[in-house]
Amino acid sequence: MASQEPLLGSSVHDAAQRAADLLAVLLPGPGHPAGPAALIAVLRKYGEPEPIEISATDLAELRRVALLLREVFASGDADTAANRLNGLLAGRAHPPRLTTHGGTSGWHLHVDSNDDAPWAEWFLTSSCLALAVLLADRQAPPGGFCASPSCGRPFVNVGRGAARRYCSHRCGTRERVARHRALQAGTSESTLP
Ligand SMILES: [Zn+2]
Repeated sequence: MASQEPLLGSSVHDAAQRAADLLAVLLPGPGHPAGPAALIAVLRKYGEPEPIEISATDLAELRRVALLLREVFASGDADTAANRLNGLLAGRAHPPRLTTHGGTSGWHLHVDSNDDAPWAEWFLTSSCLALAVLLADRQAPPGGFCASPSCGRPFVNVGRGAARRYCSHRCGTRERVARHRALQAGTSESTLP
């Protein structure tokens, strides 16, 4: 599958973020899994060349891979995430291979079997490669799930600071406000006669 990734350094974050965005539409959950249109929209956003064709079999296999990748995002520490990534790469990843997709992008690394590999193979191997590079770079889990109960979106850990809990500033703020309100409600209730 083609992807436009001119440099490893910049492409790793994009590829990891793409993995998180694909997980968000492929994992079961409220209103999910989404249909092929939502999936195609994510692939298009990341520069996948047209036409993007996903068969029913592709979609079923992509959803199966999403369940495997969910375990990496659900890892609470780097050791667990590393072991799970190693487990997924073993027997699935092929030797690293540089490609330009016939000159349509800069040279970048793939660990799928070839440029025309099935979607699910590409999704698993490209996601694991990007998440593994991030983990090695940061010595921390490469991603997580938003701690907001009304969200739960997968996110990528890219910063060097403390581990993130929320997918976005918006979710973090909403949860802080909710906690504050709950505390105030608790205080006023306890002062009732
Ligand atoms: Zn969130």
